[in-house]
Amino acid sequence: MLRVSRLCAAHGAVQAVREVDIEVVRGTLVALIGSNGAGKTTTLNTIAGLHKPSGGTVTVDGRDITGWACHKVVRSGVALVAEGRRVAPPLTVLENLELSAYSGRATKAQQAEQLTEVFDLFPRLADRRGQLAASMSGGEQQMLAFGRALMTRPKVLLLDEPSMGLAPSIVDVLFQTIETLHTAGATILLVEQNAELALAVSQRVYVMQRGRIVTDGTADAVRGRAEVMSALFG
Ligand code: ATP
Repeated sequence: MLRVSRLCAAHGAVQAVREVDIEVVRGTLVALIGSNGAGKTTTLNTIAGLHKPSGGTVTVDGRDITGWACHKVVRSGVALVAEGRRVAPPLTVLENLELSAYSGRATKAQQAEQLTEVFDLFPRLADRRGQLAASMSGGEQQMLAFGRALMTRPKVLLLDEPSMGLAPSIVDVLFQTIETLHTAGATILLVEQNAELALAVSQRVYVMQRGRIVTDGTADAVRGRAEVMSALFG
């Protein structure tokens, strides 16, 4: 489904992503973990078209989308829930969702279906559909950012640190939703600082350090590599 091969990306002189290989098979939940500054966000942003790669390729269902602008990447079926919950604050919940659907690849009928699905997943968004995004709590804004990505009917969902800055009870709700989506067949690449949380929900894990993938495998196999885990997470 999503294949990243020898991907490289830089911020000026900083080589943030170095020859990264990641494969996300259809229907799987794959986690990318690593310490602060390892290059996880840059990897996701480069896949999503927010950052230009300096080398390597990204393909979706065999189609090469390397270096495409982010609006084209969304149409190819890749949606990013970016770090820091990007929502449009002056718009209502419903307007945020409708606007996002417009940038996706869904027909009008599919958009209506998708809205029902998003409201089923996040009843709180349904209750607050008329509320301005600016006045939503951090957790609610994360749900809205999630909902916006789902409105584009993605083939692959990229999640960047959904737990960041949120109360544990909200993190639980979000991770239950991630598992619900996964059980329903969604294909997900999850970046998460909280390695235990990531290992608990994912089937395959890639561990990143200083721009490189240093190990990967099933959650159990990676968890067993104590030296790797302790090197990264103390
Ligand atoms: P975190 O979990 O802290 O977000 P990360 O693993 O997502 O970390 P990145 O944010 O991708 O890591 O950062 C990778 C490297 O690139 C770091 O050394 C960081 O300082 C650098 N970097 C990231 N964004 C920029 C930028 N806009 N300008 C310059 N350097 C950057």
